[in-house]
Amino acid sequence: MEIHKVAVMGAGTMGNGIAQVFAQCGFEVYLRDVRPELVERGLENIDNSLARLVKKQKLSEEEAAQARRRVHGGVDMAGTVESDFVVEAIIEDADQKMDMFRELDEIMRPDVMLASNTSSISITKLAAVTTRPDRFIGMHFMNPVPVMELVELIRGLQTSDATYRAVETLARKLGKTPVGVNDSPGFVSNRVLMPLINEAIFAYMEGVASPEAIDTVMKLGMNHPMGPLTLADFVGLDVCLSVMEVLYRGFGDPKYRPCPLLVKMVDAGYLGRKSGKGFYDYSG
Ligand code: NAD
Repeated sequence: MEIHKVAVMGAGTMGNGIAQVFAQCGFEVYLRDVRPELVERGLENIDNSLARLVKKQKLSEEEAAQARRRVHGGVDMAGTVESDFVVEAIIEDADQKMDMFRELDEIMRPDVMLASNTSSISITKLAAVTTRPDRFIGMHFMNPVPVMELVELIRGLQTSDATYRAVETLARKLGKTPVGVNDSPGFVSNRVLMPLINEAIFAYMEGVASPEAIDTVMKLGMNHPMGPLTLADFVGLDVCLSVMEVLYRGFGDPKYRPCPLLVKMVDAGYLGRKSGKGFYDYSG
């Protein structure tokens, strides 16, 4: 089936980035969120991001305007029905995602493939609430979506080869590099990244070094573009904690236990950049 129209569920950080990338590559996009102001905020983010690309001369004004005209936003699920492909990027909550996929499964044509951008929830489990688990896949974009090249493609137990190949081709059309992985807690990206961040937090908690020192060691010594604690603040400490909990529960191995300082900081509301305070201070 040819894909022309794409629906993106959730207009937050990831949803608006995903919508923008599809629109830039010529797809018609319906961006859906639960309240009009959230849709508006998503569309504004797309406007700002496209304007930045024009300023950096990565896109002409005409190309940006055309991309923007391809994105329509709304709160109505009915706007989704005409789409040929759906990417879900709503909040990281298994029950809410399962409800969303049950509804999508009911309203979308049976040949439409469904994808989830979840960072940590089992693709196999989400696929199982639909009547089309063979046409279900994980499409894990990285933040910020317009900039990052990787898309981790997660095969659920039931994902068919045809679905995998179609979504792999689609990811390439978006200018991304798809990498296929099997469904497992944290997939590859978060299974490797989050224990690194968690260990950096342990090192800080145990007084081995300051956040600045830990980040500098990893930046200058390992050539990481960003230190692990700076990255944790960028990702959100609540997100880091919830991924560690998924790994810990999923594998039952104490090596994945969340660092007590991470738990304490989330309890205090120190969530990183988005709350103004994490391992660093962003209030200024
Ligand atoms: P976010 O909180 O910025 O946005 C989520 C949006 O979904 C919100 O605007 C919310 O109103 C909306 N929403 C909630 N229920 C909805 C529903 N039923 N229908 C439509 N919209 C609904 O979250 P985010 O950071 O964009 O994350 C979205 C997904 O992407 C999560 O599954 C997350 O794990 C994953 N992800 C996030 C990152 C990241 O760095 N932020 C990276 C990769 C993957």
